[in-house]
Amino acid sequence: MQKDLKLLSKGQDLKPFYYAALGTFVNVHAEIFVTLQDQPERRGANYIMLGNGRYTSRFGYAIDLLQLSDKIPACNDCFYNTYARKEIPTISKLNKCDNCGSWNTDVDKTELHFSPPKNYPKNILPSSGKLSPIKMTYKTMSKAIEIAHLHLVSGSWTAANCESYMKVNGLNTKATKSVMTMHIMRLYTGEQKRKEKKIKPLMN
Ligand SMILES: [Zn+2]
Repeated sequence: MQKDLKLLSKGQDLKPFYYAALGTFVNVHAEIFVTLQDQPERRGANYIMLGNGRYTSRFGYAIDLLQLSDKIPACNDCFYNTYARKEIPTISKLNKCDNCGSWNTDVDKTELHFSPPKNYPKNILPSSGKLSPIKMTYKTMSKAIEIAHLHLVSGSWTAANCESYMKVNGLNTKATKSVMTMHIMRLYTGEQKRKEKKIKPLMN
């Protein structure tokens, strides 16, 4: 199929196709400009945990909904002052409450901070001891991978720290394994180079 698409994207290299509706031959050009997938496939293709993951039950967000289940819904005040009214509440109005998240997890507020899981690396834990929800983007995910790998290489994190951190950032087991493999390969290559250095003088 990939081969066919490549050929079709060249357009002019193909012989014209007969188009019955017009009763004539036409040139055909095909190109992929968007790929649509169902959520499970979309998650897998983007290295995101599935919907039953602790931190990824809401697509596009890395947040512990289990811990925050009583904080996210609007409290009575928010409900009657915003949602129960006919006018659409403004975002600034939704963000004012100190008791709840008012169904809005896009904003960084103390009420929506949650405790980290076991093995979460202590050297990057905020002084409050709590984590904030993350609106996931390719930028946040690649940054998380970069940070995990750097700490693993420097030896300041264990594999368990790395796994815990990546989970909180919404990344799946495949992504975590890739980071571990990358690290192991580096160690192995380093070890091989050290061995070669030791052997060389003996060979001269
Ligand atoms: Zn409220």
